[in-house]
Amino acid sequence: PFPLSARVRGLNPSATVAVTSRALELRRAGADVLSLSVGEPDFDTPPHVRAAAIAAIEAGHTRYTPVNGLPELREAVSAKFARENGLEYAPDAVTVTSGGKQAIFNALLALLNPGDEVLIPAPYWVSYPEMVALTGAVPVPVPTRAEAGFVLDPEELAARVTPRTRLIVLNSPGNPTGAVSPAWVLEAVADLARRHTLYLLSDEIYEHLVYDAGHVSPARYAPERTLTVNGASKAYAMTGWRIGYAGGPREWIAAMNALQSQSTTGACTVSQHAALAALTEHEATARFVAEARAAYRERRDFLVAGLKALGLPTPTPQGAFYVLPDTTRLHPDELEASRLLLERGGLAVVPGTDFGAPGRVRLSYAAGLDTLEEALRRIGGVLG
Ligand code: PLP
Repeated sequence: PFPLSARVRGLNPSATVAVTSRALELRRAGADVLSLSVGEPDFDTPPHVRAAAIAAIEAGHTRYTPVNGLPELREAVSAKFARENGLEYAPDAVTVTSGGKQAIFNALLALLNPGDEVLIPAPYWVSYPEMVALTGAVPVPVPTRAEAGFVLDPEELAARVTPRTRLIVLNSPGNPTGAVSPAWVLEAVADLARRHTLYLLSDEIYEHLVYDAGHVSPARYAPERTLTVNGASKAYAMTGWRIGYAGGPREWIAAMNALQSQSTTGACTVSQHAALAALTEHEATARFVAEARAAYRERRDFLVAGLKALGLPTPTPQGAFYVLPDTTRLHPDELEASRLLLERGGLAVVPGTDFGAPGRVRLSYAAGLDTLEEALRRIGGVLG
């Protein structure tokens, strides 16, 4: 075999990708396959953002930007953190990255040493444990309960703190659960972090997709030890533009910039100009976000009601655009359940396995109501 590094040999290929490739294979063979497996908005990037990118190209903004991002974009991010989150991050305490994912990766690489432990509430986004493991640190899942809407219990977190614990990952609204952490939970987590000298990485990429309660940033309670990650992908339907950003303690941000300077050099210049429009043309952006949120909420209500009517217990997510039904009625093993849905129902979903969600599959409702209705019909068909 080819002599790959031990680091990479330990990396798990994602189950999401496996499902997507099997679905593609079936489609290529002529099967009618519907997919609710994607993690991106089905809307197009709003027109004012696209126009800003075209104008940037025409104006010749096609060279490198500073490693940490265009100064005017960092100003806009700093203003966004103040306006929407009540956080004071000066522009030099902000960095712009190639997607939220790269901000998280750089943040972990900048903070963690081999053997450090990282607490990750489960079910979790598949990339957290994999990225933590790549640094040589150890991911430690912290279970949450479906009956509690998968909201993190600070006592479960506290019970897993050891002398090696260094970081807590928070993701509210969460992928794949849609759970939104209430302020009291975040306050308790911040308290715990301060008492044990732990750090917090708060991934707020789904911030604008909350349907009932409001979004609260944990950095409000522990600014000196929290890195806040966000980005353009989900809020402004800009997944392909690859723009993320983070604000946090200056030393942490500076180390992330050093890593970026030796890897990607920085985010795409044209995309940064597009993100600048999204963050500064408030009226047009607010209208887009409000319309998208209303559409997602309607789809969520429709899908959750439909799944429950089919007899699949489904907690109502408070945010993001995923649901996580219990599929043990289809099959006790979620891999088998998603295989049945694909092979017999022509519906691609993601098994909960890699999300730390056994007995469940993840469905995305970043799809039109017609598609969701057809998906429910297919699930009903497989249930028989
Ligand atoms: N964080 C979570 C929880 C996500 O689900 C995703 C994308 O699926 C990201 C971060 C990364 O987003 P991006 O790198 O596209 O900004």
